[in-house]
Amino acid sequence: TLTGCGSKEEYLVVGTNAEFPPFEYIGGATGDEVLGFDIDLAKQIAADQGKTLKVENMKFDSLIVALNAGKVDMVAAGMTITPERKASVDFSQPYYEATQVVITPVTNVSINSVDDVKGKHIAVQLGSTGDIMAKELSDNVTAFNTGFEAIMELKNGKVDMVLFDSEPAAKHLAKNPQLKMQKLNFDAEYYGLAVAKNNPELLKQINASIDTMKQNGSFDALLAKHMQ
Ligand code: GLN
Repeated sequence: TLTGCGSKEEYLVVGTNAEFPPFEYIGGATGDEVLGFDIDLAKQIAADQGKTLKVENMKFDSLIVALNAGKVDMVAAGMTITPERKASVDFSQPYYEATQVVITPVTNVSINSVDDVKGKHIAVQLGSTGDIMAKELSDNVTAFNTGFEAIMELKNGKVDMVLFDSEPAAKHLAKNPQLKMQKLNFDAEYYGLAVAKNNPELLKQINASIDTMKQNGSFDALLAKHMQ
């Protein structure tokens, strides 16, 4: 029988944590859409393969597990390429340069260098590069599922500072004039899209899509659309 055959829609399933504006966040007319730079990038990658993008929103800490369990095809989550993560997944070419920033109340004058961060009570997002870096600098680190919760903790006066990626930090600060962020001397980080190690074909397609987007100007257009 022909029933069920033929026009089956093919999906590219992307895993993300939509708490990381402007890369991924919840919004749109209905207030329940996942939007952002990474989502637009992933949509184009899906389109280049003749597929429809399907977004799975989950905890940041669960993304690599979901990828390796085959629950998602790709992770697009402002995820920094690190040697530790490269041991379990493959990354696309880097698509964005970021850095950690220190968020404190504007009244704080005691944190002005990476050295000043040592031993401070730091709030971070669980499993993030900020989390890893904070634990190298202090024994007093509290990790939350989202950067938003880490910033709430700071606003409530429960921690000295938050260590978070520069772009989402700037987005959060725009709504919190009592807070400031400082780019101390932290190393640059590079975001990559992640795929399972058994999927080199998809990795090749992703890199080809990024190359094309960089050549035809649509990558820059996406940056202009989403970055401040
Ligand atoms: N870039 C950071 C990391 O990879 C944070 C990413 C995020 O919170 N979505 O750990």
